[in-house]
Amino acid sequence: MPPAEPEPDKNATRPDGDADPPIAANLRALRSAIEAAAIQSGRQAEDVTLVAVSKTKPAAMIEAALEAGQRVFGENRVQEAETKFPTLKTLYPDLLLHLIGPLQTNKTQNAVALFDVIETLDRPKLARALAREMEKTGRRPHILIQVNTGEEPQKAGIAPQELEDFLALARDDLGLPVVGLMCIPPVEDPPAPHFALLAKLAAKCGLTELSMGMSADFETGIRLGATHVRVGSALFGARAPQMGT
Ligand SMILES: *Cc1c(COP(=O)(O)O)cnc(C)c1O
Repeated sequence: MPPAEPEPDKNATRPDGDADPPIAANLRALRSAIEAAAIQSGRQAEDVTLVAVSKTKPAAMIEAALEAGQRVFGENRVQEAETKFPTLKTLYPDLLLHLIGPLQTNKTQNAVALFDVIETLDRPKLARALAREMEKTGRRPHILIQVNTGEEPQKAGIAPQELEDFLALARDDLGLPVVGLMCIPPVEDPPAPHFALLAKLAAKCGLTELSMGMSADFETGIRLGATHVRVGSALFGARAPQMGT
């Protein structure tokens, strides 16, 4: 006979304390908030894709979200994503991974190999490197152009007034599969004018995907036309500060 299970000690603290967020419950709450925001603006829940931002979070948390039905994830660093996602992609072949952080040209090969969507195309040199890599491998992750809607000097992204010329290079000359735009509004600004500007630019350029809105403002993003919202802390819990971001 196997030894009897020890009685669970009701006073024992879990090894990870109380910090482990109830991911399935958070996901349900997020999905209904997304649906409510969509319906309020005359849209449907299916029009909005939740990109679950799992940067700094361990693979076990990502698996909990996968088990709860989430399939689209976002990471901001190529190297970190490479430590977590190849295995998860084997377990869940329909998993889709978005790159939402800056991409260095020397990581283009790795990024094209791993990511399904690259949301942060922001300069001609990177556009050329991506085009070469896609040509070489035949893998063609969808591309969003990051727009610096706040025209912040230290922030990545194409200036709004340069977008049309840049799109002509990236999509028309280089043949990149550019499908939409992404922005990160300045932290000190209300986000709505930035989201409205991004939507206007996308319409003018004939682009259909709009990645805008994070934990604090995804409902505003949806109201202004977001097709993708990038939500991290509201799903996985607060993050420890990350170097360099
Ligand atoms: C971290 C990050 C997010 C998610 O932010 P939360 O406030 O945790 O939802 C979204 N977009 C980008 C580009 C990020 O780097």
